[in-house]
Amino acid sequence: HYILGIETSCDETAASVVKNGTEIVSSIVSSQIQQQKQFGGVVPEIASRLHVEQITLVIEEALREAEIVPKDLEAVAVTEGPGLVGALLIGVNAAKAFAFANQLPLIGVHHIAGHVYANQLMHPMEFPLLALIVSGGHTELVVMKSHGSFELIGETRDDAAGEAYDKVARVLGLPYPGGPQVDRLALESEQSIDFPRAWLEADSYDFSFSGLKSAVINYKHNIEQKGEQIDPQHVAAGFQQSVVDVLTVKTVKAAKQFDVKQVIAAGGVAANQGLRKSLTEALQKEGIPFYVPPIALCTDNAAMIAAAGYEMWKSGVRSDSTMNGRPGMPLKSWNY
Ligand code: ATP
Ligand code: MG
Ligand code: FE
Repeated sequence: HYILGIETSCDETAASVVKNGTEIVSSIVSSQIQQQKQFGGVVPEIASRLHVEQITLVIEEALREAEIVPKDLEAVAVTEGPGLVGALLIGVNAAKAFAFANQLPLIGVHHIAGHVYANQLMHPMEFPLLALIVSGGHTELVVMKSHGSFELIGETRDDAAGEAYDKVARVLGLPYPGGPQVDRLALESEQSIDFPRAWLEADSYDFSFSGLKSAVINYKHNIEQKGEQIDPQHVAAGFQQSVVDVLTVKTVKAAKQFDVKQVIAAGGVAANQGLRKSLTEALQKEGIPFYVPPIALCTDNAAMIAAAGYEMWKSGVRSDSTMNGRPGMPLKSWNY
């Protein structure tokens, strides 16, 4: 069974063909990073315009590379939300048109369910599992007891992890997107500044990253007041250690409490080398299997949307032609 996946929630225009929810047959990602870089972030209006330019080409390329025609497909899965409304609409409308023209079922996928299901492209999911979702807009711990069942046990109370990375990168004068740059500096650094860790209440699986961001800003300010310069490497290393420590400790604790069969990481920040290493080591010590997709499947792509779409399709989930982009769409279970 072939599913066509389409993703346009932020600044990647992506289309992919996935076989049986597990095998990537083609995956095309057209990134706007080069165009958005000059603005230091994603400008929504520009994102929409570039999606319009790219979407048809990207879908055609995904089909061509997969060497299939539309009638070989079982369904079209598209990111319905959350994301930038103007960006989502481009993908949703392209998916609707494609599904209608080829008489295929249409499936609206939650972007974060997509990030989670990127894992299914690498290894079979075993339940119950714990998913650590760390991306540009989300930081969540989710327990899954079966396919399509999401129980939120913790989330950020302010900034998402990726957002904190991007903001700290800006403070350090690094180009957008800052996450990979901070990661690189941190890895190269031999020293690190000691920044606070936001543990919150002892029994909480919630996160907070805005205090850490402020600590970095204050640190820079204080050093510069003395007429000195900060060492960006030491700051990056200290910031990353604080983020990675909290994410690792809470993930391990939750994995034990919920007695899960595996832990998976998902989302753009799961590409972080420091986090991957820390989680691997900590969960290995506990004897809990840990999986994280390759970097290209952690950041936004359409293969993950097709993978999630396949599970939804199997469960009988369908959208209709009234589907719209939903910028604030909540992560809801489709199986109970
Ligand atoms: P969401 O998925 O929550 O809607 P998004 O789609 O914008 O948000 P992703 O594409 O999943 O986010 O991830 C992008 C984020 O991941 C950015 O904040 C980016 O800085 C961060 N990121 C990417 N690579 C790394 C890395 N190596 N280390 C830390 N952060 C990273
Ligand atoms: Mg992006
Ligand atoms: Fe994303």
